[in-house]
Amino acid sequence: MPLYEYVCQDCTHAFEALVFNGQSAECPECHSQKLERQLSVPARPKVDSPPLPTACKSAGPPCGPMCNRWNNS
Ligand SMILES: [Zn+2]
Repeated sequence: MPLYEYVCQDCTHAFEALVFNGQSAECPECHSQKLERQLSVPARPKVDSPPLPTACKSAGPPCGPMCNRWNNS
């Protein structure tokens, strides 16, 4: 069941509502259907991605087992 967070655009009341297919939510305070749906999933912090294997210097030995230079030589 999709649970959405809404903010009423008429009275700015914030609430959560279960919305089924084909149904629209309405504000429990003023029964307006002018609602702004909020993103209910909290934004995930960015996970540091490992450095790209292409970042190694062109001189010297390959930088690691994932180094792209293993395939070029
Ligand atoms: Zn309202």
